[in-house]
Amino acid sequence: MDVVVIGAGQAGLSAAYFLRRSGLEFVVLDANPAPGGAWQHRWPTLRLGKVHGIHDLPGMSLPHVNPDLPASEVVGDYFGSYEHEFDLPVLRPVTVKAVREAAGDLLVESGAGSWVTRAVINATGTWDKPFWPYYPGTFTGRQLHTADYRGPAEFTGKRVIVVGGGASGVQALLEIAEVAATTTWVTRRPPIWRDGPFTPEHGRAVVAKVAATVEAGHVPDSVVSVTGLSLTPEVIAAPPAS
Ligand SMILES: Cc1cc2nc3c(=O)[nH]c(=O)nc-3n(C[C@H](O)[C@H](O)[C@H](O)COP(=O)(O)OP(=O)(O)OC[C@H]3O[C@@H](n4cnc5c(N)ncnc54)[C@H](O)[C@@H]3O)c2cc1C
Repeated sequence: MDVVVIGAGQAGLSAAYFLRRSGLEFVVLDANPAPGGAWQHRWPTLRLGKVHGIHDLPGMSLPHVNPDLPASEVVGDYFGSYEHEFDLPVLRPVTVKAVREAAGDLLVESGAGSWVTRAVINATGTWDKPFWPYYPGTFTGRQLHTADYRGPAEFTGKRVIVVGGGASGVQALLEIAEVAATTTWVTRRPPIWRDGPFTPEHGRAVVAKVAATVEAGHVPDSVVSVTGLSLTPEVIAAPPAS
């Protein structure tokens, strides 16, 4: 191979699109059982109309679909159509276990075989490695990360603490509060609300700020610390959090 792409989320598929155009010999190895990257694992109550928007992959727009459909389903279908449309060589489920140097090339190893390649594009995302904060003390109740969240139903009648001041925390809080006995919201600092639309100018300013941080060699801050949290009608209508 000229290139092995690891991961078939939006990063891996975008890379594959341009590799296809370049005429290079390549393959995309994806650990997931189906198209959609991390999106296929998002909880069913995360509807398309509630996400920030899915950026089009190069060369093919996301079709207009019912905003009440789960985003996981819509994006899975979109990415699957995309792979088909551009005849992208995606192999799945293939989990890459190691990448080693091999006589000037790279050897990509998986349980399903090995590939010798001149280059690797690592497009493995972050979803498979969720961050679990350590809490000192003796809490023995159930603790789960949004990566394992499947919707509010299982929290009916329970006392629930939502940890985190990002968009996922807000969405979980709003829907869990409707069924739980009590909800408490814990954030490291007061949430930063953004009143008004997320304009292209605001988006460009956010990207420039993150790029400057990374180029200076620093770890970027949380996404919402630069984008702010949307003050949606649902948020405005919600009762005050404790
Ligand atoms: C709740 C939530 C809501 C979001 N909402 C939005 C939104 O509205 N709009 C937006 O633009 N972004 C949103 N994002 C962010 C967006 O989902 C991510 O930026 C995007 O999925 C990243 O794409 P990716 O291709 O880098 O990685 P992923 O989509 O994570 O894809 C990585 C792929 O690599 C595979 N992989 C990993 N390790 C291996 C391995 N060792 N071998 C083989 N394959 C491997 C995985 O199986 C996966 O298929 C949201 C994120 C979250 C958590």
